[in-house]
Amino acid sequence: MTPVISKLPQTGTTIFTVMSALASEVGAINLSQGFPDFDTPPKLIALVNAAMKAGHNQYAPMAGVVALREQIAEKTEKLYGAVYNPETEITVTAGGTQAIFTAITATINPNDEVIIFEPAFDCYAPAIKLAGGIVKSLELEPPDYRIPWAMVKRLINNKTRMIILNTPHNPTGTILHREDIDELTAIVKNQDILLLSDEVYEHLIYDGETHHSMARYPELRQRSFIVASFGKPFHATGWKVGYCMAPEFLMSEFRKVHQFLVFSVNAPIQYAIADYLRDESTYLSLPAFFQEKRDYFRKGLEQSRFKLLPCSGSYFQSVTFNGITDEKDTDFALRLTKDFGVASIPTSVFYTRGTDHHVLRFCFAKRQETLDKAVERLLKV
Ligand code: GLN
Repeated sequence: MTPVISKLPQTGTTIFTVMSALASEVGAINLSQGFPDFDTPPKLIALVNAAMKAGHNQYAPMAGVVALREQIAEKTEKLYGAVYNPETEITVTAGGTQAIFTAITATINPNDEVIIFEPAFDCYAPAIKLAGGIVKSLELEPPDYRIPWAMVKRLINNKTRMIILNTPHNPTGTILHREDIDELTAIVKNQDILLLSDEVYEHLIYDGETHHSMARYPELRQRSFIVASFGKPFHATGWKVGYCMAPEFLMSEFRKVHQFLVFSVNAPIQYAIADYLRDESTYLSLPAFFQEKRDYFRKGLEQSRFKLLPCSGSYFQSVTFNGITDEKDTDFALRLTKDFGVASIPTSVFYTRGTDHHVLRFCFAKRQETLDKAVERLLKV
């Protein structure tokens, strides 16, 4: 057998695949991997169908269907007051993960340092390592998971090339606040540091909070790749369509990689989303829609032995299980799936060191009946 030297020797199968597979094997309610169990809007599906019937079934332009890039530019200007040129500064991607991988591959050179905040979505570190970069992780702690900016400052040196941000945050459901933006701005000013801002939950933000997109702040925008998703807002995670925005000098590098990674993204769905985005209520209605689900799920769990952590955005509710068991979160998540029939995500897997704060993440993007059944089972724990 020809030996292969693994490029990711420590990396196993992503927790989302592991937990979803287990949930389906044992017939558990799957609140682990984040995806809705309700329908994609029929109007959007009809638009995809119409685009296919209209013959939009061949390669889309490499950077994305022009009408869609124009709609993205319009939405971004309306929401964040930022002008992006659809010709040169916006690229449609096969989901957020591809955009993140592409941005990192295009800009991180061997031995460049990239700062990430843990718990961190699990695709960041492997992409950095594959590019030859060095992961510099800073651990955040429950219940608030605030970024310790003084420690960030201490981590920065002349090899620091990028900081990865994620707001609203997966897995914790926390968000960046105005003070975080001010700290970040002071830190990167006059430094050659890029930002990669994972904002795939931008429209899922609650209690009237503001989404602090990097697009709002010129000092940050000029050095940022902003990654967004259509799967989350439009209840269609399986379509794997998202996008990336960045100033032209960054986007031109991004496209050099994008063109050989996926070339382009499936065409009919792009035409459909371009049409669908014309009605802003399709995304402006989302905070109310998901906040109701968040509140419903939280209320149900209030009587349980789990302790609810704050949730300001995303479709994830985290809980601690101190007082229920001393088990590791990974063991408890398995037992909860097998014995109680509810699958969750243990958050220690998002820490390089496996730090276990006894926190599980549940996805509440589910029909009311699903949440009812899950709560009924969780109350027995
Ligand atoms: N973003 C989703 C989650 O956090 C799943 C992503 C994936 O399965 N790769 O659950």
